[in-house]
Amino acid sequence: AKDKGKNNCQFYTREMNASIEEKLVLLEGLRNALDDGQFRLVYQPKVDLHTGRVFGVEALVRWDHPEHGVIGPDRFIPLAEESGMIVALGEWVLRTACVQNRAWQDAGLPPLCISVNVSPRQFEEARLVERVQQALADSGLAPEWLELEVTEGVIMRDLQQAVAKMAQVRAMGVSLSIDDFGTGYSSLSALKSFPISTLKIDKSFVRDLGRSSGDEAIASSIIGLAHRLRLRVIAEGVETEQQRSFLRENGCDEMQGYLFSRPLPPAQLAALLNAPAMQ
Ligand code: C2E
Ligand code: CA
Ligand code: CA
Ligand code: CA
Repeated sequence: AKDKGKNNCQFYTREMNASIEEKLVLLEGLRNALDDGQFRLVYQPKVDLHTGRVFGVEALVRWDHPEHGVIGPDRFIPLAEESGMIVALGEWVLRTACVQNRAWQDAGLPPLCISVNVSPRQFEEARLVERVQQALADSGLAPEWLELEVTEGVIMRDLQQAVAKMAQVRAMGVSLSIDDFGTGYSSLSALKSFPISTLKIDKSFVRDLGRSSGDEAIASSIIGLAHRLRLRVIAEGVETEQQRSFLRENGCDEMQGYLFSRPLPPAQLAALLNAPAMQ
């Protein structure tokens, strides 16, 4: 029995070392990845549920790791947050997205709103507003074509300061949306003081639409709440026709998901939108 216990202990130690090691490898790699140009953005269309028109795209970051291949943001954004690297990475994402959107407009694509994810640490950073202003000025993108997606986590930390920061962003003419709505604990009464334009229903509530009456109740409540607050509402993670028809019938305004398109590299996105100048 004693031997067995010892073996178990060694087993767990090895497992733990493996995950800590992975973390350290990624963390070490993150430091050089930005300078080495290992990050790129892909763009997922956002579609108007009633007209079927693509009115915007969300920029999502990918890391082409020289040894490990493509690494998704769920694996490195938390590390970048912890290490503070998110500020530099986030600025790169913001600038790249603005430059890309302006390039599409110059190429004759119908104008799109580009959404950029801003993580809590990045949103709290003192120079955020300045950085957004600079990214717009340097790219020549008009502010109305940029939106920042923030999670409820941003609001949780310091409500007063978050609202003040949001107001500064809005004053620039840049839109704001609350991402993953329903997964955090932001109070409903706080919601009415946010200068936001859109609520995004988290994909965990979208997955079982048509199968789970609980998720249907949550989704239709969020849609009703958004509309009563005069906000638009978008559903993410829409993969099936059934989910789309539920959302459309329940008054959801916009959708995003594999049903319409996966996130695409810039050239493929432009091809999808069928820009005459790019054919
Ligand atoms: P998110 O902002 O909630 O983004 C939605 C995620 O759902 C994306 O994963 C997207 O590729 C995925 N998705 C889209 N359509 C579908 C669908 O129909 N079904 C399913 N199952 N998934 C779908 P991704 O690209 O792996 O990004 C994961 C998360 O990483 C994002 O979640 C966001 O929180 C974060 N992230 C991505 N890019 C950035 C960035 O540039 N900056 C920051 N701060 N965070 C980012
Ligand atoms: Ca998002
Ligand atoms: Ca989301
Ligand atoms: Ca999410």
